Amino acid sequence: MKTESIKALRRPGASGVDDEHDPEGSSTAFERAHVATLLARAREHLEELDRALERLEQGRYGQCEGCGGAIPPERLEIRPAATTCVRCASDPRRPPRPA
Ligand SMILES: [Zn+2]
Repeated sequence: MKTESIKALRRPGASGVDDEHDPEGSSTAFERAHVATLLARAREHLEELDRALERLEQGRYGQCEGCGGAIPPERLEIRPAATTCVRCASDPRRPPRPA
């Protein structure tokens, strides 16, 4: 991975695609898109964990945002940033409130 590619990803609004002058062509573009997706997912995950930390500080960690009940510890072990219990998460009539 070239350093320039990473810099191009960080520039907001920049497509970072210069395939005309890149002998690797589409594979480089594909790699960039893939890394961009991974970066976006990592950022989302970080934000989820930040919110989990906030809830921990406010004493609301492990409390379901859907029904107010306790989220089982087993679920928190698997998904530490979970905001709802399994029942609320799987019930389309009770969508989790946006943070
Ligand atoms: Zn619930």
